[in-house]
This record gives sequence, C-alpha cells and structure tokens, in this order.
Amino acid sequence: MKEQFQHIQESLGEALKKVEDRDSLEVVRTTFLGRKGALAELMKEMSNLPPEEKKETGKVANQTKREMEKAFEEKETIFDVQERKERVEQEWIDVTQPVIQKKAQGSLHPVTQVQNDLEDLFTSMGFIIADGPELESDYFNFTTLNIPPTHPARDMHDTFYLEGRGDIVMRTHTSPVQIRTMREYGAPLRMIAPGRCFRNEATDVRHEHTFHQLEGMVIDKGITFGHMKGVLEIVAKRLYGPETKMRLRPKFYPFVEPGVNGEVTCFLCKGKGCRLCKKTGWLEIFGAGMVHPNVLKEGGINPEVYTGFAFGFGLTRLVMLKYGIDDVRLLESGDLRFLKQFSVC
Ligand SMILES: [Zn+2]
Repeated sequence: MKEQFQHIQESLGEALKKVEDRDSLEVVRTTFLGRKGALAELMKEMSNLPPEEKKETGKVANQTKREMEKAFEEKETIFDVQERKERVEQEWIDVTQPVIQKKAQGSLHPVTQVQNDLEDLFTSMGFIIADGPELESDYFNFTTLNIPPTHPARDMHDTFYLEGRGDIVMRTHTSPVQIRTMREYGAPLRMIAPGRCFRNEATDVRHEHTFHQLEGMVIDKGITFGHMKGVLEIVAKRLYGPETKMRLRPKFYPFVEPGVNGEVTCFLCKGKGCRLCKKTGWLEIFGAGMVHPNVLKEGGINPEVYTGFAFGFGLTRLVMLKYGIDDVRLLESGDLRFLKQFSVC
C-alpha cells in the first residue's frame, strides 16, 4: 500500500506541472485531495488492513497527505503572486502627475430646461416641434391670426418695428408659427412651437421686452373641447404633479372661438391660498381655445371638414413659478451668479 501512496503523490506532482490556470488547479485539487479524491479513497481502504499494518501505513498516509497539500499550496502561491503583480500593473498611478483642473462648464438656462422637459412630453404624444422666424411679417403676426389692422387687440401687442419697414415686426407671440406649420403640413396636425417673443414694454419685475412662449395646436376631423382639456390636464400634471387640478374660464383671444383661460391649483399651497397665488389657490398658466375658422382658412385648411384646438403657455412664467423667481428681468440678464443656481451638473 505504501507504493500506492507514493504513486498518488507522484501523479499529483505530474499533474501540477501541467496546470496553467486557476480552473485547472481546482480540478487537480478535487481529483487528488478532494473528499472523494484519490487520496481519500485510498485512505478508506486502510480500514481493511490487519491492525499491525494499520499503524505503520497510517503514518505513511499522513506523511503523504501533508506533502501533497504542501505541493499544492506551493503551486497556488505562484498563482497568487502572479495575480497580485498583474493587479499592481493595472492599478498603477503616477502620484507625481499634476492635478487635472476641472474646466469651467456652462449649463442649460432654466427656460431651456423647462422647454426641453415639455418638448419631451409633447413629442411622446406625437406632436412635432416647429420653428418660425423671430422677425415676422405684420401679416403673419396679426392679420392671419384674425387680428386685422384696425383690430383693438393690436394695442396689447405693441412691439418693435424695423425703421422704414412697417410691414415687419419682432413677433409678439409664437402663434404665427401655427399658420406657417398649417400651410406646410396641412391637416391632420399636432404641433408645438416654443420660442422667443417680444413686446415694447416698460420693464419692471413683471414685464420684460423679451420672453418665451410655448404654443401648440391639434387639428383633425372631430377634434373637440374635450380633447383640448385632456391634453392640457396631462401637461398641468407633468408640470406640477398628479394631484394638480385644472379649471378653464372664458376669455377672449382673437384667434380662437371659444377661448379660455387655463388655471391650475397652486402647487405651493395646494389650492388653500398663499402669496404666490394671491390667496386665490389658482395660478393662471395658459390660454387656449378652439381654433377660429378664419385662422384655419388662413392655414389652408377647410373649417367645414376639420376642427382643432390651440394653446399657449407663457414659458417664462412657468419658469418663474417653478423656481420662485420674483424678477423676470433676471432671466435675460446674463448674470452668471443667477444662472449658476440652475446648473444641473
Ligand atoms: Zn398658493
């Protein structure tokens, strides 16, 4: 039996020489030193030996076992050292390298952040994002939107004109983009138009010559006031949370019939009344209505076949409400101390 022990020990030595990685090392360990391995099996056979031989063979067995385990551990150590060396090489850093200075980085303007969020929402509902010129013809800015030259609504839209070109204005709203988009794409149509608008205002904390709107319209066969309410409720909830309630109250806009004023429950006091909502519990955030047949005609769409709704959010106002900004002039000021507060990175 002694020879058998010797034979196993030699076989282990041979097997270890061929081992090249951890996996095969583990196979060798199971084969020779495992609970059902070659050595364990041979040791079991010792119970059949006569008592006088048992003692002697036991010594040999234990000796063999120790030596085999030692041989195995030596091989294992080689792997340990090798792996540590590889790791050290991989994780090497040059501690003398100068610190890399983080470059000053700009961030998105709060208006852009809110605009991007709304664009994501509307495109997820199948709306296209349309764009139009900021320097607009008087015709597109007013006349096509049911505001003819003598209409009193023009008084509320005093803007900037080009010298010697009374027919061109800095657009006072994003609504002319509705006409341009209808003429380009026809019906059915789902579009929004975010952008800058201008008014000739005496500036103060609430008035600014440049501001942002987000305008939108849906035109199709059978579009009703109900569709309008549904879409605008989704927007209100996206802006101010799922608990937000919305109410519509009649208001005149020349380009819709009927027109409404859209209010949502104040997100600050949840409708109880506070300073932000002037104790009313409601915040006015948009105007909307069913598109006036004259406007559809100007867009080249037959009002006998199609109906639609349009809405306009004061994007600037949404941003001021969201962040609690109390002076509209800060938004166009370019003051970095102000803008850095909205850095998201
Ligand atoms: Zn309130």
